[in-house]
Amino acid sequence: MSEDLPRPSSINKHSKIMNILSKVAVTVEPVASARLAAAIVYKNDIISFGVNRKKSHPFQAQFCKNDKSIYLHAETDAIKNALRVVDQEILTKSTLYICRMKHIGTNRREFVYGLSYPCSGCMKAIATFNIKNVVYSLEHDGKNSVAFNSLLR
Ligand SMILES: [Zn+2]
Repeated sequence: MSEDLPRPSSINKHSKIMNILSKVAVTVEPVASARLAAAIVYKNDIISFGVNRKKSHPFQAQFCKNDKSIYLHAETDAIKNALRVVDQEILTKSTLYICRMKHIGTNRREFVYGLSYPCSGCMKAIATFNIKNVVYSLEHDGKNSVAFNSLLR
């Protein structure tokens, strides 16, 4: 997997989707203080959303051998939900977006972006379904905008 800067034409699209995901993520019940939302995007359509939740799920357990990581992660939730509406072939041509939101300091009402690099279990799911593009949020840099990186396989 190589890390590449997104092509300029993709940056607006990435920002737009990250913005939508940030609004979903802040409504998520935090799991170990993490609020994550993910989406599968095919061409310009969001085909599924996913959030992390404190609920074990066989779909996640399939990719994580560690007992503590069987909770459904936003990434695998989005993949699972996408498979209900599209076939695997579409999934390989889609982009997985991941966004993490967190509190800054002691202000419990303000959120900033956080790093949402996928864990090894989710990486395994991403590889299994051959999803070639992954865009994840980066730790906030003091600005109010989202910074992101993309993984191209
Ligand atoms: Zn994960």
